Amino acid sequence: MNSSIRPIIALRDVTKTYALGDIEVHALRGITFAIAPGEYVAIMGPSGSGKSTLMNTLGCLDRPTSGSYELDGVNVGTLGDNALAAIRLKKLGFVFQGFNLLARTSALKNVALPLFYAGTPLRVRTAAAAAQLRDVGLGDRLDHKPSELSGGQQQRVAIARALVNDPAVVLADEPTGNLDSQTSEEIMALFEQLNESGRTIIMVTHDEEVAAHAKRVIRLRDGLVVADEPTICGGVRKD
Ligand code: ADP
Repeated sequence: MNSSIRPIIALRDVTKTYALGDIEVHALRGITFAIAPGEYVAIMGPSGSGKSTLMNTLGCLDRPTSGSYELDGVNVGTLGDNALAAIRLKKLGFVFQGFNLLARTSALKNVALPLFYAGTPLRVRTAAAAAQLRDVGLGDRLDHKPSELSGGQQQRVAIARALVNDPAVVLADEPTGNLDSQTSEEIMALFEQLNESGRTIIMVTHDEEVAAHAKRVIRLRDGLVVADEPTICGGVRKD
């Protein structure tokens, strides 16, 4: 990474220890990396290696036990619960394996939800949500409920929802895990397009083919980074 660019994410020696009765589980044992604006990073590792814990930390759902996490210049570890929720709403967009859409709610209202929580007026959030849905190719599906959409379309709605607050970083957790291979390719193409337009993306995946779409792969094992390198298919690193 070019050292003159301020990282959008900087982890320094982050640990996370869970207390399980009398036993301490060291889920993260000292993670250090920085991610520059516009990067597309895949996080990989075997089950139990700490991927979910790392994503929860990056997603401001949980604080590190020790070490520091800076998101867009803000030291997240020092924030209280309300400030943490506010930074999550403002700076992060989330995409999940199971889409996590409200079932009885239209695509438009699902996408507008983060703006509702942010206090954006109805007309503004409706227009923004419609524009995002158009951008992901669902301009003709605004009033459809999730059950009236295919899996790939539901994930597009979820991606539109993740983008509607113009987040600094999109965090995606196995976003193609519930999709067939052709639909997965379409969703990966959409992520690539988003990255090409400047979005910073961090994606957990266990699938090497999916990870090859990213430009950098960080591999975890037993709560540590064991590899952090550019992918062969992703563009040439400029550092
Ligand atoms: P991964 O997502 O790579 O499967 P996790 O981050 O879920 O890994 O888990 C890392 C380690 O932390 C595992 O040993 C897991 O059992 C443990 N762990 C995760 N969450 C908790 C929790 N809430 N309480 C206790 N141990 C946990």
